[in-house]
Amino acid sequence: MGWESHFVTGALAGYVVTNSFVGALVGGVAGLVPDIDEPNAKLGRYVPFFSRWLKHTFGHRTLTHSLLFFAAIGVALYYFDVDERYTYAVLAGLMAHSACDMITGRVQLFYPLPMKVGIRVKRKWSKRIDEAAKWLALGAFIALVLRNIVIG
Ligand SMILES: [Zn+2]
Repeated sequence: MGWESHFVTGALAGYVVTNSFVGALVGGVAGLVPDIDEPNAKLGRYVPFFSRWLKHTFGHRTLTHSLLFFAAIGVALYYFDVDERYTYAVLAGLMAHSACDMITGRVQLFYPLPMKVGIRVKRKWSKRIDEAAKWLALGAFIALVLRNIVIG
């Protein structure tokens, strides 16, 4: 999936768990993090050497897309005493990323186990699913915000 879809789905996930725009922003940025293992990805371009090392050492959609990585990030945020709500937003954004990757391809969710999880789709369908996920997540985000404004 493209970075826009990962950002929007991560933001939606962050908003759902925190009910705040800051949580949405945190979730959106966290949604970009797993693709740090891809030098051509939005975040990977900012740290090309690290990104290439990750891809070369572990491969794409492996360690940084795994429950092990999410748990390590969660423990690190807990250790550094980050506000619990933003820890949840980060974890929600990370999980949204892998969930989205799993509807357009396969992810080594249980790394270091070699098993890959997800649906393999043809490239043209991957693009369509990417677009649909992005607009659905954006629509859901707007609907939730409006609901919170109306209901309070
Ligand atoms: Zn990914």
